Amino acid sequence: MSLSLIILFFSACNKNEVFWEDEEDPIIDTQSEQDLGSEEDGALTLYRVNGDAISKIKDYQVSRDLESYQMDVDKHFKMWDFVSRLLPAQYRDKISQFEVFYGGDELQGYVFPPNEEDLSQWRFGLAIEIAENLDQINFKDLFTYVTLHEYAHVLTLNDEQVEANASEGSCGTFFTGEGCSREGAYIQRLYDLGWKDLANDPDLEDPDRLYNKYPDRFVTDYAATNPGEDIAEVFSFFVTMENKPSGNKISDQKIRMLYDFPELVKMRQDIRQNEVIQLTQPGSWRQNQRLHSFKVCNRRGCK
Ligand SMILES: [Zn+2]
Repeated sequence: MSLSLIILFFSACNKNEVFWEDEEDPIIDTQSEQDLGSEEDGALTLYRVNGDAISKIKDYQVSRDLESYQMDVDKHFKMWDFVSRLLPAQYRDKISQFEVFYGGDELQGYVFPPNEEDLSQWRFGLAIEIAENLDQINFKDLFTYVTLHEYAHVLTLNDEQVEANASEGSCGTFFTGEGCSREGAYIQRLYDLGWKDLANDPDLEDPDRLYNKYPDRFVTDYAATNPGEDIAEVFSFFVTMENKPSGNKISDQKIRMLYDFPELVKMRQDIRQNEVIQLTQPGSWRQNQRLHSFKVCNRRGCK
């Protein structure tokens, strides 16, 4: 199987529900941007991002039971305020829209480029029901982790990292689903380090089996989903772990790999300056019962 197949996926707590869409599959572009914001998805309100400020673009039509979430504009703004404090402004220039949604305790966050041909602009979606403790930044909180994880997708899939391209065929590099990795892209480095040699592994499409077979390769079981999720998890560990790991496991090497990039080391420092940490414990967010899944959407939609 080729690793080009990172097209779309979502998962609940059970990794068996992760879907990999084959490139040759005829289901292409079946989901429009409008559909992505449908009531079914729990989308509440879409905002335009302008630096640290947001302004409403629209409220989605929602069912009655979600109205109170949609009307809680104060919380929407607090959620964005949290994002803007966690991630200094200079690192957010690719985030052009902020979406508040209700994830039904199954979906915590998603990102996607509203225009699939323009990877310089991303919609950043966070679930309102997991937004807690917004007055402080605590690396133990699930919401902090989700924000970092989703941000990592924007960081690793944007136009400076990936050249938008619908087809894998013309890629001489790792195909992310959004396009071809550029030379030296973070995700290309991760792929070369920990996925390239798995290209013919029979369990490549089964994250559970892959993780159980190679637990030392991944920082979490979810990271075994595909390189895109892997680097998002690795980045979250990179930022929240107090020290650079020194072990020889491939999962340690993946985290150390990010230290090879001075701009990421600087970013890590800048993010950590904001932290109000009670305790930095890598993985501690995983004790949160509400941790189920993450989602990155792309040109073929979310489902
Ligand atoms: Zn993700």
